[in-house]
Amino acid sequence: MRLSRCFLPVLKESPSDAQIVSHKLMLQAGLVRQTAAGIYAWLPIGWRVLQKIAQIVREEQDRAGAVEMLMPTIQSADLWRQSGRYDAYGPEMLRIKDRHDRDMLYGPTNEEMLTAIFRDDVKSYRDLPRTLYHIQWKFRDEVRPRFGVMRGREFLMKDAYSFDLDEAGARLSYYTQLLAYLRTFQRMGIRAVPMKAASGPIGGDLSHEFIVLAPTGESEVFYDAAFEEFDWAQAELRYDDANGLKALFDKVSSTYSATDETHDQSRWAEVPADRKRQGRGIEVGHIFYFGTKYSASMGLKVSGQDGAMVTPEMGSYGIGVSRLVGAIIEASHDDKGIVWPKAVAPWQVGLVTMRGDDPASIAAADDIYTKLTAAGVEVLYDDRDERGGVKLGSMDLIGLPWQLIVGPRGLANGVVELKNRRTGERSELSIDSAIGRLTA
Ligand code: ATP
Ligand code: MG
Repeated sequence: MRLSRCFLPVLKESPSDAQIVSHKLMLQAGLVRQTAAGIYAWLPIGWRVLQKIAQIVREEQDRAGAVEMLMPTIQSADLWRQSGRYDAYGPEMLRIKDRHDRDMLYGPTNEEMLTAIFRDDVKSYRDLPRTLYHIQWKFRDEVRPRFGVMRGREFLMKDAYSFDLDEAGARLSYYTQLLAYLRTFQRMGIRAVPMKAASGPIGGDLSHEFIVLAPTGESEVFYDAAFEEFDWAQAELRYDDANGLKALFDKVSSTYSATDETHDQSRWAEVPADRKRQGRGIEVGHIFYFGTKYSASMGLKVSGQDGAMVTPEMGSYGIGVSRLVGAIIEASHDDKGIVWPKAVAPWQVGLVTMRGDDPASIAAADDIYTKLTAAGVEVLYDDRDERGGVKLGSMDLIGLPWQLIVGPRGLANGVVELKNRRTGERSELSIDSAIGRLTA
């Protein structure tokens, strides 16, 4: 992408109306613009990051056997009357009337809708188990939208729903999502610790929140440093290994982690002092087993193997895709700007000409741009006729993993400069070896 043709409104000053660093940086680097309280337009650079995050979520859901679909944002109130949640949900639900005076709503979540779809189309035990998901916008009329996309009113969520014939099956679906979540967040380059959530109206031990550490987080968290050492990406645990998944769940459950809501002083006291980690955290995901709450109230039944009717056991599994953009920045930035983990960076390389009016620099940079792009490397090419220092400042702010800097002085010696944004390390290389490094 040539910056001269992109839409990348970088602000010179750090915006004073934002309270936390990720919100400031998202505004300053031109990722989002607020269009109404808690509602954001995603500008090109923010949209690219959002799609990268969504794609990692998608790939890990698919790998775990969940199947993607898409449900609408606007729902009928009648669906929610069937489960009894239309009245129970409260003022966070945005209620709308259509021209025929029918009650509609902008979906805050989709349990009712998918349960109804299942009820109408699934008849037999042979059709279960299934886990379906979609990545779709939600609306919750939060009392206090704040911190930018972190607590918006409109936000993008991945929500998956599992249907099983019995509790043992539902537990396995839950363990499967647990592993998928651990792998998903690890791939994004962040550490999200699973914490037992305060049990909801159904009770039981099967509800975990995934929390990213950040000083601006909304809840206080406590966990054993062992969570920093686990490598969830490890390939040997397979999704068809029920015992392995159960062992993973047992390991997670027996290692201490809690939010202030579930914190247990006596168990915490048993964690050795040098392993205690305490701080504030942001909830980026939540998985939940709720049994037959929706299937029973909405009349979802399938015929079981012995002919008797069975009410499926369900769970739901959410990831805050748009919240993650803010959470990742909270966890990965420095005083110059954002430092994107490679996996979610909007582009991998920022190519900069120090002198946008020097024909030799332009020719060299154009050539590098063509070659890198042809090799499949994502490049943001700052080809503007702008002061070099300004361009480098914007590149630091935007936070791409690599900067490739082309200037007249270097070119005279046949070299360009390659800078690693995270470490700040710079090296002078020939154009060919710089391209070689970035395409390796
Ligand atoms: P919170 O406690 O932060 O209000 P929640 O428990 O109501 O969230 P869930 O229903 O568990 O949220 O939704 C799943 C995920 O969606 C959350 O883990 C979070 O990452 C994300 N999410 C929820 N509300 C918002 C919001 N207002 N803005 C952005 N993301 C949100
Ligand atoms: Mg939650």
